Amino acid sequence: MNAPTNDELFARARAAIPGGVNSPVRAFRSVGGTPRFLVSARGAYVTDVEGREYVDLVAGWGPAILGHADPRVIEAVTDAASRGLSFGSSTPAETELAELVEARVAPVEQLRLVSTGTEATMSAIRLARGFTGRDLLVKFAGHYHGHSDGLLAEAGSGLATFALPGSAGVPAGIAALTLVLPYNDLDAVRAAFAEHGDRIAAVIVEAAAANMGVVPPEPGFNRALVELAHANGSLVISDEVLTGFRVSAAGWWGLEEGTAGEYSPDLLTFGKVIGGGMPVAALGGRADVMQQLAPLGPVYQAGTLSGNPVAVAAGVATLRSADAAVYAHLDAAAATISSEVSDALAAEGVAHAVQRAGNLFSFVFGEDVASGVRDYGGVQRQEAWRYPPFFHAMLDAGVSLPPSVFEAWFVTAAHDDAAIGRIVDALPAAARAAASARPS
Ligand code: PLP
Repeated sequence: MNAPTNDELFARARAAIPGGVNSPVRAFRSVGGTPRFLVSARGAYVTDVEGREYVDLVAGWGPAILGHADPRVIEAVTDAASRGLSFGSSTPAETELAELVEARVAPVEQLRLVSTGTEATMSAIRLARGFTGRDLLVKFAGHYHGHSDGLLAEAGSGLATFALPGSAGVPAGIAALTLVLPYNDLDAVRAAFAEHGDRIAAVIVEAAAANMGVVPPEPGFNRALVELAHANGSLVISDEVLTGFRVSAAGWWGLEEGTAGEYSPDLLTFGKVIGGGMPVAALGGRADVMQQLAPLGPVYQAGTLSGNPVAVAAGVATLRSADAAVYAHLDAAAATISSEVSDALAAEGVAHAVQRAGNLFSFVFGEDVASGVRDYGGVQRQEAWRYPPFFHAMLDAGVSLPPSVFEAWFVTAAHDDAAIGRIVDALPAAARAAASARPS
C-alpha cells in the first residue's frame, strides 16, 4: 500500500482535529494550500510523508539552533529516556540547567522551569502582581507572549495572521487589566505611567519583537523601559522565549549589553532553545522576586511535568553545545540568506525591507515600508499579499519557510553551503512570483 499523501492526511486530520492542526499557524491559512506532514528532520532538512525533502527555515519555530536531530541532543535524550520518563521529583539535571542559564544571563539569579513559553509568561505576570500587589499589565501591540487570557489583546503571531482583534472566550474584565501600547514609543509608555503608574505591576516586552515579523527595539528602548518602570515601582518582564539563547549565548539581553547599554529586567522568560526541541521553558530573575514563588512565598505555581528529565536532558545538551562557533555560524547564515533574498527581490523590482534582530530576520513588502518598520502599524501597512506566492514558489523548489509573513525566519548551525545554495537557487522564481502577485 502506498504511503498517504499530504492532502489525504490533511483531510483525515481535519476530521479528527479542529482545523487539522494543534497550533493555528500550521494550517497554512495565511498562505493557502496543504500543510506538509513531516515524518523526519535532520540537520537543515525536513522530510514530508511523500518523501520530499525541504531545506527548513522554521527550525521547529526556533528551538533547533544546532540543526535537527543533533547527535549530542539525541544521545542525551535517549540516555535520559532509558532511565525513566517522568519522576515528579527533583533531578540533578534541573539544577544544572538553571546554573547554565544563570551563568549566561546575569540578571537571572534564580530560575524556575515550566513546560511552555505560555506558562512562563503567565507565571511571571502572576509573580509580578504578587510581588508588587498591583493588577495592571502593560504590553505592546504586535508582541506575542503565548495564549494566556490577559495577553490575547492585539497580539501578533497567529492573531496577526488571521487579523482577529483578540480572542473569543477572554473575559472583558481580564482583558481590561492589560494596557496595549505602540511598540518603540517611549512617550506612550511615559503617558501610561503618568496616568496609571501606581497600578501597573509590570511591563512585559519581547526582548526584540519577532512575532509580527521581526521588529527590533530601537537602541535604548529596553533600558528606558526598565528605568521608567522602576521609577514607578513596577517590574519589567523581558520575554526571551524566542530570542533567548538564539541571538547570542545570553539572548537579546546579551547582545544589548555591549551596544545599547546595560539594563536589568526584573524577570526574564525563556522557551524554545532552552528545551532544545522538547517542552522546557522557564522564568527567572531577581532572587527577591523569584523567592515569592511557592513553596517559599505566596505566589502559587506548579507543574506535573515541570523539569521533566527527558526534556531537561535535551535543554542541557543544547545549551552545552551552543558555543561561540555556533552563534558565529547562525549570524553568518542569517546575513547570507537575508541578503540573497533581498537581492533576488530587488532584481525583480519588489520593494521591501529586511527586518533584522541579531540572527532573526523577516521581510516586509511594499514601497510604504521599504525603509523598514518600527511597530505593528508599520507591519500592517505592507503588501502582505506578496508573501503567499513567494512562499509557495520556495516550497515547490524544496525550501520550507514560515507559513506567514508575520513570522521570523530561523536558521540553524546545520545550514551549510549546500543548504544555503538550495535556498539561493530557489529565489529567482520566488521573487518573480512576488513581483507578479496582485492583492486578493
Ligand atoms: N513568548 C514569545 C516571545 C514567543 O515567541 C512564544 C511562542 O512563540 C511564546 C511566548 C509562547 O511560547 P509557547 O508557544 O511555548 O507557549
